[in-house]
Amino acid sequence: MGQTARTTKLLLDLSTRDQGGTNPGKRSHLTETVIILNAARRFYLDFLLAHPDKLMERVEVISKKTGEVREGVISADNLLTWAEFQTVETPDHPTPLPDWNFSREFPGLPNRYRRSVIKDVIGKARGYLTSVTKWHASGKKKGKPAIPTASNHPTLYAGTFSLELDELDLRKSFIRLKVFAGAGWVWVHYPTCYNRYFDRRRAEPGWETESPKLILSKQSAAIHFLQTKTITAKKIVESKRDPDLVTVAVDLNVKQLAVITVRQHGMITETRFVSDHGLDHHRFQHLKRVAKKQWQAGKAVQGEHSNQQLWAHVRRQNGDCAHKTARAIVEVCEKYPGGVLVFERLRKIKPSGGSKSRRLNRKQANQLNGKINQLAKEKAYAIGVVSVEVNPHGTSQYCSRCGCKGVRFTYQAGQRITGKGGKLFSCPACHYECHADFNASVNVHHSFFREFHWQPRELKSG
Ligand SMILES: [Zn+2]
Repeated sequence: MGQTARTTKLLLDLSTRDQGGTNPGKRSHLTETVIILNAARRFYLDFLLAHPDKLMERVEVISKKTGEVREGVISADNLLTWAEFQTVETPDHPTPLPDWNFSREFPGLPNRYRRSVIKDVIGKARGYLTSVTKWHASGKKKGKPAIPTASNHPTLYAGTFSLELDELDLRKSFIRLKVFAGAGWVWVHYPTCYNRYFDRRRAEPGWETESPKLILSKQSAAIHFLQTKTITAKKIVESKRDPDLVTVAVDLNVKQLAVITVRQHGMITETRFVSDHGLDHHRFQHLKRVAKKQWQAGKAVQGEHSNQQLWAHVRRQNGDCAHKTARAIVEVCEKYPGGVLVFERLRKIKPSGGSKSRRLNRKQANQLNGKINQLAKEKAYAIGVVSVEVNPHGTSQYCSRCGCKGVRFTYQAGQRITGKGGKLFSCPACHYECHADFNASVNVHHSFFREFHWQPRELKSG
């Protein structure tokens, strides 16, 4: 049993008024709200750090599962009640601590926001105290933990936001937010960039929606919906005993980004090549330009980042490609529920040798492979497919049919040329010839089952 989480973003429409967006005044309300909530967070962070004894108070805790009574640290809920009692004016309790009167300092701040702010800082304050205690115990002079920052993205609980969906026309939907508008707290409607994709993700069965967050950046504003799902998947050791187990192996490369092979009962039943559609070459052209400009400009200015737009473009393309490739891998996994996804532990192709642009490109290619690996694992886990990493030793060198050491070759003008960079693989023992990446992908299955003599004996699950 495990849990997985994902975020779905809903952008607020901040385009100009005549294009259906919100007006500039409403935009500034968001900024003000974030500022005031950060100040409130600062208030409670200082308050909690001024009362460390209460924060770490040991109390008797009754376990809900077993009914057992044991000593533990005070729960966040109790601490929240206590903090509110000390700082908030109510008709029943008109006199909070004089130095910590929250109601005076933040008049009219909605209760829900106050609670979300306190909950947010309890964890931060505790973490800080624990690391300070550790630091004192270690007797070191350097490395004193810094006081945590108060700024964070506001969490929206029911009572501070609501999503109003017009059933007939989803494009006309809007979100209602409680925001600070100069004089006081008011409800404001914000148009959203609602889409089918968001709708589908929100309604997908098995996913539970948690409280969303308001994420404000320079150019955009979005509501991030966090969803969690409980996953029940077999352990790898159990799956391995299953004679009908399906394994999906992936070999990650540069031009053929991923070669996916599916194996059951010792036979390869499906193969899929995912090409990068020329991304590697395209990126190389951009990086050539970056390298040239850097060379022309001489020594880089410290703290400044050059070629920002070009880099952003490269990053976006890499990210997009990683998502698409990971999606392709998971699409194959979806056909075989209860299967296992097998990866090689990432080999880093060292970005040494060649021109500067070539080295930069290598680095980006490595990063892309890492991203595909990570995303595919997450996406596969969300559908209940567990992934394993195997040792990459020898997968591209040995024959996947007989296990002998083979050679790489390529055809140029009808001539067979043997060499390291060859796309094809040939085995001198059994005369098997195939695409080198396919051979490697099949070897990943062998590695998982440890079938050949050259495979190391260890296996790491991930
Ligand atoms: Zn062979």
